[in-house]
Amino acid sequence: MIAIPRQKPTFRFAPSPNGTLHLGHALSASLNFDMALEAGGRFLLRIEDIDQARCTPEFEAGIFADLAWLGLDWEKPVRRQSEHVAEYQAALHTLIARGLVYPAFLTRGEVKAKVAAGEAGGKPWPRDPDGTPLYPPDDRERSDTERRRLLESGLKHAWRLDISAAVATVGQPLHWRESGDGDRGEILADPAAWGDVVLSRSDAPSSYHLSVVIDDASQGVTHVVRGLDLFRATSIHRLLQSLLGLPEPLYHHHRLILGDDGRKLSKSLGDTGIAEWRRRGLSPAELRRRIGL
Ligand code: GLU
Repeated sequence: MIAIPRQKPTFRFAPSPNGTLHLGHALSASLNFDMALEAGGRFLLRIEDIDQARCTPEFEAGIFADLAWLGLDWEKPVRRQSEHVAEYQAALHTLIARGLVYPAFLTRGEVKAKVAAGEAGGKPWPRDPDGTPLYPPDDRERSDTERRRLLESGLKHAWRLDISAAVATVGQPLHWRESGDGDRGEILADPAAWGDVVLSRSDAPSSYHLSVVIDDASQGVTHVVRGLDLFRATSIHRLLQSLLGLPEPLYHHHRLILGDDGRKLSKSLGDTGIAEWRRRGLSPAELRRRIGL
């Protein structure tokens, strides 16, 4: 009999080193670690530092220190997105060559003005699940000649996925398998709700969406465990996985930890970090209890 090799269950925690880790990160990292341990699988740490303008080595060092203090141990070396730009660019270029991605030249100000003008008539402009207005159709509708002319002029641009063309190319409804704290089971993906998402910007070679699906596939991630705030983004991830022929992981979107005011914790809002609790003398076990583990 031929033995079919089974992939070891592989989990990852993927923070961005653009701030200090807070209690929500402690929950996410610990859940990944605990689930990997229980499944006899692997626990990976990935540093999502594609946005070099906001990420620093000091924040990265802080992540390592906080996770080690929590008692977590991860495989080395860690993957850093900034070291894999060529892979993201290669994927982007295959999508451009297939006519699924187009150069987007509108500035933030121009987009704002178009949305305001569109809403002046009283009809709300369509928005994505995060509340951001969908990108206007102008750039998608340009002729090839016009696109070439603008590209050759050196005008700054991003690359956006033509969501209707991408959905049509896949040609069948996409789903994912979910075991988290919100809806569970077979979830129907709705990538069109996001509009023409950015895959690459002039100042960041790859977007979160593009890098995350490539990284998960390259690292052999079988279980994506992350916060419920990314539940709906999974629709875009499933679409990109399908377009790029990447395997489909299982998903588990866990509860979020809210601040005293009911807001989602955020690095940028200066919410109490793991390091601060540590300085106040809390033990790792006490911190785990605090976040309901
Ligand atoms: N880097 C993302 C964050 O810090 C997490 C990405 C993911 O888990 O898919 O929110």
